[in-house]
Amino acid sequence: MNIVLLGPPGVGKGTVAAILSSKYRIPHISTGNMLREAVTKGTALGREAKGFMDAGRLVPDELVTKMVKERVAQPDCKGGFILDGYPRTSAQAKALQEFAAIDAVLDFKAPFKTIVERISGRRTCRKCSSVYHIKYNPPKKDGTCDRCSGELYQRSDEKPGIITERLRVYGEQNKPLIDYYRNEGILSEIDASFHITEIGKIVKQCDEALVKSR
Ligand code: AMP
Repeated sequence: MNIVLLGPPGVGKGTVAAILSSKYRIPHISTGNMLREAVTKGTALGREAKGFMDAGRLVPDELVTKMVKERVAQPDCKGGFILDGYPRTSAQAKALQEFAAIDAVLDFKAPFKTIVERISGRRTCRKCSSVYHIKYNPPKKDGTCDRCSGELYQRSDEKPGIITERLRVYGEQNKPLIDYYRNEGILSEIDASFHITEIGKIVKQCDEALVKSR
């Protein structure tokens, strides 16, 4: 199964993708994580992407598409993959169609206020990219990753002004994407407004949508 997760930043796609990934044994490909890793390593891609990311803007389509195309060509993607954060524009959706057949698109939805609260409380591990929430999913020890003891930090694009910009950019690009996949008949809506303690309710909706699209 080749799956695409759509939805605004902070809607919980990454958390659900990690669960689906271990359940279905297919890799979770997060373009945001890949780009942040490139920035941290200081690769050519990272140097080009950094300015756009810091401003809450999208990295140019060609750069992200090349990165995803190379990733899904890896042997671990043979049995399927979960794309989280790609495509984000119609141009990316068209490009994706050229190199992968998508079976299901899950569109995550939650109220604006819920999303802002989720993003602004997020803390990410510098070492292993695990994600916590200061209120809803705090680490055992303040500022330290439970899994690898790495340092937790607030991403610069998860500060209030930039969140609003990212949500604006999302709103602008999203509609044509949704229309595109609805026309293809592979889009399912997922109510992602549930609290993290009820994440099973979100996963269940995904499972049902995936069964339908088989
Ligand atoms: P995310 O963690 O998915 O919200 O991504 C963080 C940032 O990475 C975004 O605000 C963009 O700057 C960049 N990014 C991630 N995925 C894409 C994409 N498909 N197209 C363009 N930029 C992207």
